[in-house]
Amino acid sequence: MSEKALAALSSVIDPELRRPITELGMVGDIEETGNSVSAVIKLTIVGCPAAQAIERDVTSALQGVYDAVQVTMTTMSAEERDVLKAQLRGNKPIRHNPFAVEGSLTKVLFVGSGKGGVGKSTITANLAVALAKQGHNVGLLDADIFGYSIPGIMGIESRPTKVDELMLPPISHDVRVISIGFFVEDNKPVAWRGPMLHRAVEQFLTDVYWSDLDFLVVDLPPGTGDVAISLGQLLPGASSIVITTPQAAAATVAERSGAIGLQTGQGILGVIENMSYLEIDGNRHHIFGSGGGEAVATRLSDISGAPVKLLGQIPISESLREASDQGRPIVAENPEDPAAKAIWDIATEIAAIPRGLSGKKLGINPV
Ligand code: ADP
Repeated sequence: MSEKALAALSSVIDPELRRPITELGMVGDIEETGNSVSAVIKLTIVGCPAAQAIERDVTSALQGVYDAVQVTMTTMSAEERDVLKAQLRGNKPIRHNPFAVEGSLTKVLFVGSGKGGVGKSTITANLAVALAKQGHNVGLLDADIFGYSIPGIMGIESRPTKVDELMLPPISHDVRVISIGFFVEDNKPVAWRGPMLHRAVEQFLTDVYWSDLDFLVVDLPPGTGDVAISLGQLLPGASSIVITTPQAAAATVAERSGAIGLQTGQGILGVIENMSYLEIDGNRHHIFGSGGGEAVATRLSDISGAPVKLLGQIPISESLREASDQGRPIVAENPEDPAAKAIWDIATEIAAIPRGLSGKKLGINPV
């Protein structure tokens, strides 16, 4: 096979798998005569949504080194697909949860809140994008089964591509995203209970090609319920972040959601206070009261017996709200926005926390 053609093709990245096509078994026969080349490219599945992009990139990569280029697109055989799937799963068995294995390097973050409407999903999406922009490999799992909103906030219109039983998640702002919203038609409500919910969230872990993630950020449903308990069992190494607004009533409810996390075994990484204040002409107006975040952190420290930090306070921001409604996370859209900056700083702080120390007892007794 022509070294020159292969070198050119190694610059072509599969948009869903984010790896060079030369490493994915996607390059078929290549014939080179003088300065002309014809290449066969094998897509993973018939009707692959990335087909056009791959054909365009292959053609332009080859045109960079040959005068005449002919590209033929075909599809992998079932055997070839099996080889690829095994490679993507790291030769692990089918239906394997990569995050539950001992020594997994992925930090799993559960983002929860006591009630809806406190900005949990908005913050989760923006934290994921901020972590990705800071150079981490990030997955975002929307487990807010009944109130999923992540696809909208992330501006995702596509659906996962299925390579047999393996799902390739859509990627937005370099974050791999899976949501129940991708699997329900026409905004129909999801009416699932215990065992079905458990199976659905389990499949999101086992049947999705997440790649080697640094972070898996999980948007939990508000409150305390079946999904949080299932996920707690499936992801025993996770740590939780609790979102609250500043008013006392919200803080009391938020505290309960953090406490449930402790019962299912997660350490608490910290608390984020959202909608903390509105700044007008340099003056901070505490529309929703103040002190809720600090109060939740103090209470959860008491309950867990380990220090729980207030990770940050995010101001009310009209541009955050507008950008979210349009499917554009504010940390990417307008990083200078004060709310975006606050989320960015929280992401930096989270990334700096060593694995395994989050909210767990340190076993050191102060004298
Ligand atoms: P939850 O996931 O807790 O139900 P959402 O993330 O859906 O909450 O947010 C609820 C609404 O509040 C959305 O319209 C969102 O854009 C808006 N919002 C969230 N945080 C802020 C903020 N800091 N400033 C202004 N609007 C916000």
